[in-house]
Amino acid sequence: MNLVSEGIVLRQLHIAAGRRMIVLFTREYGKISCGTSLPESGGKNRTTLAMRPFTLGKYQIKRLNDTFWLNGAETIKSHFSLGEDVDKFLIASEMLELAGAVAPENEPAPAVYDLLLEFLDFLEARDKGYRMVDIAYQVRLLSLAGAEPELERCVSCGEAPGTIFSVEKGGVLCASCASEADRKSHLLYGARFDIIGMLRYLRVAPLAKLAKLDLEDGACEALERLLRDYYAYHLDIRNVKSASLLAEEVRRPSNERKG
Ligand SMILES: [Zn+2]
Repeated sequence: MNLVSEGIVLRQLHIAAGRRMIVLFTREYGKISCGTSLPESGGKNRTTLAMRPFTLGKYQIKRLNDTFWLNGAETIKSHFSLGEDVDKFLIASEMLELAGAVAPENEPAPAVYDLLLEFLDFLEARDKGYRMVDIAYQVRLLSLAGAEPELERCVSCGEAPGTIFSVEKGGVLCASCASEADRKSHLLYGARFDIIGMLRYLRVAPLAKLAKLDLEDGACEALERLLRDYYAYHLDIRNVKSASLLAEEVRRPSNERKG
């Protein structure tokens, strides 16, 4: 069966004898791993670019049972500039990784696909506040992954409005339901900031409003830590290192060069 779909390249792996595996996130068929022997060399031609991570393209795929073979690829949008800035690159890589981890194999997940594409475009167009883009993306992806935290009513009694966020309980707790441990973790996530209010806002704010938002570093850190814990606890996604942390590591050895 021959399939044609729009898709985003999540990963490219070299196998052997010039063959590669392209992990493609297609809008219509979901995440699929395709073998291919399409040439990699040839400079910046449309097919080569179409197989690089971040690229949005149109793909011709041959399906035989559960095996997929990529026969043709055409670039729609390369998102090329995401590779030219180390912060953007790391955040975009993390976005791909998370979308790939959340999307099931061979099953359409159009909402996850649309979110990824929307945020890759959004990130590409930004010239600051990248961490906030990353955080907003993660907050929204949680809902699509079926692990949306409850942010209004206390998850324990269901009555009082929540004031403390508990990762383990999957949302907010009111003052009387929160245990000592919950209170502690609340402090860990930064009592200085209205974390719950920020999560509520990031979940629904239109991109045009997000574009004007620039969270302070302390708030970013608290949210990043909370999200990392939340993804690990509820979705068992542990390997995603916060992009800002990675950026620090990348930058450290090149301090002299930069400055
Ligand atoms: Zn309660």
